[in-house]
Parts: sequence; structure tokens; C-alpha cells
Amino acid sequence: MTHKKNALILLAGGRGSRMGSDIPKQFMMLGDKPLIWHSLETVQRSELIDECILVSGTDDIPAIRNIVSGGGFDKVSMIVPGGKERYLSVVNGCMALFEKYDGCEAFEGSPEIVLIHDGARPFLDDGIISRCIEGVLETGGCVAAVPSKDTVKLAGEDGIVTDEPVRSRVWCMQTPQVFASSVIHETCTAVNEAIKSTDPLVKERLSEITDDARMVSLFTDTKIKLVMGDYCNIKVTTPEDLIIAEKILEERRGHIS
Ligand code: C5P
Repeated sequence: MTHKKNALILLAGGRGSRMGSDIPKQFMMLGDKPLIWHSLETVQRSELIDECILVSGTDDIPAIRNIVSGGGFDKVSMIVPGGKERYLSVVNGCMALFEKYDGCEAFEGSPEIVLIHDGARPFLDDGIISRCIEGVLETGGCVAAVPSKDTVKLAGEDGIVTDEPVRSRVWCMQTPQVFASSVIHETCTAVNEAIKSTDPLVKERLSEITDDARMVSLFTDTKIKLVMGDYCNIKVTTPEDLIIAEKILEERRGHIS
């Protein structure tokens, strides 16, 4: 695989309200480090990532800055304030990156691939990153995902099942979600325009954004390639996820009790 310049947008701009804690989840401890520290460490060590833009809640920027300097995470080139919704945090992070490089033209030093990763997924590793980088070369858009272990059914608001996708074709999306920089630049520019619109159809389109791949599909013709993520690449969302994450961490550190 040829190594292009790859930038990673690391998202830590959420409040983590589903954790039921006063502390934003990126600062909750996993092992002896804050949750966000784990992704930062992987990014810092990875030869596949050249630069990291960290997106944080405005009030949390001083605390995030302490973590970055305390860990010596010098691949973090910017800490950018997040938005109200996750996709707005993504747009803020990407736009800050593009402003830094004056657009996304492939001049020397500008990123060719942009990876977007949830800071709430602490078990990112180089295997996942490299599969995504290889996958994105195929279509310009690639997501780490895992085949669904459960049968998935669609139901109406009344709880009556309306559709039953074939389980062998159902995948659960993870992050990184990875794009050619021209693709995510085009997408973020279009989303920024859409945000200003008062047209209800445009508003409805924005409300359909559930992940980065969906955002890209809504605003460009890019096809999305799925590559194998990892069943351990969980997102810490609710308190029981933290218990599972502690177990995964223990196992990875070789301290199974
Ligand atoms: O809320 P959820 O668990 O889906 O968040 C996924 C990731 O997106 C987390 O790392 C969170 O910090 C980030 N996020 C963000 N800005 C928001 C909402 C979520 O950066 N407005």
C-alpha cells in the first residue's frame, strides 16, 4: 500500500448524556487513563496517520489541551470546537483542516485521505486503519463495519414489523469512516450551504444524517465500501459499555483475572 498523507479527525465534542454522568465521557477513566487518551495514543503511534484534528466541546478545550500536552500527542495540530450535532462537529473539524491547507487540492503537504473517528471508540488499531485506507482507494468512501450478529427487523411506530433484511447482508457501522479529501471537502461545503437554507426539504435531508457515510451519500455520488472493523472496536455509550471496555483493555494488556 502506498502511503499518502492521511489526516484523522478525532471527535470528542459530545456530552455523553446516555452515560448518565456529569463528566463528559471522553474524560471518564478507562484503565488509568481518560477515554480519549486511548485513541490519541493509537493515532500518535500509527505510521499511517500524519496529523490529527481534535474536536472538543468549547468548555472542555482546556482539559483536552492538558491531555494532549500531558501525553506528548504532537500529531494533534489543532483543537477545534465541536457543534451541536455530531455531523456539525465533523464539518467543523474538516473545515478547519481544509482552511489550514487552503482547500483540498493535492498540493504538497495537503492530506489526501481524511479519517473520521469517534473518540468514544478506544480500541482503534493499525489493522482497522490500514483496511480502511486500502478500502477508500476503491471508491473514495470507506467505513469500518462488522457483520451483524443479531437478526435485524424494521418496525413501524406501532411496533409491528415491516421489513426483515437478510441477516448475512446486514452490517453494523463503526468508525473510522474514511474519505478521499476531495469527497469530504465537497460534502462539508454542501452541508455548510444546506445549514443556511430555510427550505424544509433541505432541513429534512440534514435530519437524515446518522453517520459520515450517510452525509457523503446524501451530498455526493460517492459509493461507500465496507471493510472489516473489529467486534472490540466498541463505542462507549452507556454505563455497561464501560464495563465491557475495561474487560477488553485488561485482556489486551494481558492482565486477565
Ligand atoms: O453521542 P455519540 O456516542 O454517538 O458520539 C460519538 C462520538 O461523536 C463521540 O466521540 C462524541 O464525543 C462525538 N460527538 C461530537 N459532537 C457532538 C456529538 C458527538 O464530537 N455534537
